[in-house]
Amino acid sequence: MRRIVIIGSGAGGTIVANQLRGQLPEEEWEIVIIDRDEQHHYQPGYLFIPFGIYSREDILQPKKMFIPRGVEFVLDEVVRVDTESRRVECLRGSWEYDWLVVATGARVKPDEVEGMAEIFQTDVQNFYTLEGAERLRKALKYFTCGKVVLNIAELPFKCPIAPLEFLFMADWFFTTSGVRKQVELELVTPLGGVFTKPIASKALDVIAEKKGINVTPNFSIARVNAKDKTIESHDGRTVGYDMLVSVPPNFGESCIGESGLADPMGYALTNKNTLKAEKADRVFVLGDATNVPTSKAGSVAHYQAYTLVENLLREIDGHEPLPTFDGHATCFLESGFGKAILLDFNYEVEPLAGKFPFPGVGPFSLLRESLANHWGKMMFRWVYWELMMRGKDLPLENQMNLAGKVRQGAVCKV
Ligand SMILES: Cc1cc2nc3c(=O)[nH]c(=O)nc-3n(C[C@H](O)[C@H](O)[C@H](O)COP(=O)(O)OP(=O)(O)OC[C@H]3O[C@@H](n4cnc5c(N)ncnc54)[C@H](O)[C@@H]3O)c2cc1C
Repeated sequence: MRRIVIIGSGAGGTIVANQLRGQLPEEEWEIVIIDRDEQHHYQPGYLFIPFGIYSREDILQPKKMFIPRGVEFVLDEVVRVDTESRRVECLRGSWEYDWLVVATGARVKPDEVEGMAEIFQTDVQNFYTLEGAERLRKALKYFTCGKVVLNIAELPFKCPIAPLEFLFMADWFFTTSGVRKQVELELVTPLGGVFTKPIASKALDVIAEKKGINVTPNFSIARVNAKDKTIESHDGRTVGYDMLVSVPPNFGESCIGESGLADPMGYALTNKNTLKAEKADRVFVLGDATNVPTSKAGSVAHYQAYTLVENLLREIDGHEPLPTFDGHATCFLESGFGKAILLDFNYEVEPLAGKFPFPGVGPFSLLRESLANHWGKMMFRWVYWELMMRGKDLPLENQMNLAGKVRQGAVCKV
């Protein structure tokens, strides 16, 4: 009997477990998936909690519900991987493997910013943890005037559109609660604009301006001064706030670094097209745990799973992996007032205007606000639980399709 071990039963690991079990005979292959948490978090839902749209019950499900028959779920914490002897070492035991899949995600590390860790989740709000999102809900409920600053501490971070999405939703939230004129909203970002990709950034900038959201670009945070309620950049600039909402530094999990697989931020060094780990044989990586230069998003983990599973099966059969992952990412950005914006891009092609997923038809519109996009975003939770996490196919191409996209620059209609 041979064994595949998967570390992490979040979005990526769960999809891979489902796909692999469907393709490898149970009498020859044991599949073990290890996670330290029994609950599966639908992380895109964290963003809806501060605005009272979702609660904890809406975004948590027992992980075991999504583990297929014939896959063993082990509740344990991985400490390191010995890639020489092919052994995963956990707090309560160890597991030898023939092939390993790393899907450990990313974590927030507020202690990377001076003055932040001590007051994280009290004076410094966030929606990158469930507890943070719940506290932020209370804070927003009673906030009626002053300046809300959303600061992105450092790149890369999960879901690069989430900060802007938070501000768009805050604009809607304060408008509908009648206090928007008394509330200033500001994005303070290390980026040159509101998003990581220049064309989309320009288009989204127009929408942000229309919503009255101020932007302070090129701000690399050095410290939080809780006493005088300011954040300070490495080049000595300060921004004051009444409420600070932070996207803290995001790092890979320590067990990856301990195993010699990672870059200095703890992200696994990964071939960006084959998803093979660069520092060890018989190891593949997907999702937020990789250092590949695309968005850290559930949609990406889903697209990557197809390349990863195919390449792992190819290696088992004695063939070279294929460079088929193109960096494809598809992200809905809820923009408030019953609308959302959709972005679709890959390593080479920036988000462009057009229709998705069916060229010329839609129903979703790219790079512009629409009601259909909003329903797409709201439906995503069902799609995530009922299709993606059960390893079912979606009517989406794993590789980005240029059909139906407007290619001459960004067109933005709001
Ligand atoms: C606020 C927010 C909004 C988002 N919005 C969107 C969105 O709209 N659309 C979208 O596509 N994506 C969105 N995302 C991103 C998406 O949730 C992640 O990209 C996705 O979950 C990544 O999947 P993953 O499998 O790589 O990691 P995860 O889903 O985080 O899973 C990692 C798993 O590994 C386990 N683990 C880690 N270390 C260990 C260890 N040492 N031992 C045992 N187990 C371990 C963890 O417990 C966890 O279960 C959002 C994320 C956030 C935070």
